[in-house]
Amino acid sequence: MRKPPPETPEMKRARQDVLRQVERHAPSKTNVFRRSFEGLSLRKAITAKCLDCCLYQTKEIRECAAYGCPLWNVRPYQIRTTEKAESAEDRAEGAKECLQM
Ligand code: SF4
Repeated sequence: MRKPPPETPEMKRARQDVLRQVERHAPSKTNVFRRSFEGLSLRKAITAKCLDCCLYQTKEIRECAAYGCPLWNVRPYQIRTTEKAESAEDRAEGAKECLQM
């Protein structure tokens, strides 16, 4: 990644406001935002954007249905394909067991 431009006083104020909000509502996510503001991690920037979009709720990001969003395919907290397949198989087996009862 390209080195980010130097932080202006306006940028610093805006980012401090965001960090205060994150610390208040989702303290465990503060470092994601800090790293994002450093401008060195595209992954942290995407994660921070999705957290901001979903009010810091990882479940909401996982279940995001905004298919038109440019970040949708790369959003964090997705269930990996193998996990999806396994959970679908588990559900199918559970349904079979219920029908046999
Ligand atoms: S992928 Fe979903 S959660 Fe992430 S920014 Fe887009 S709409 Fe928001």
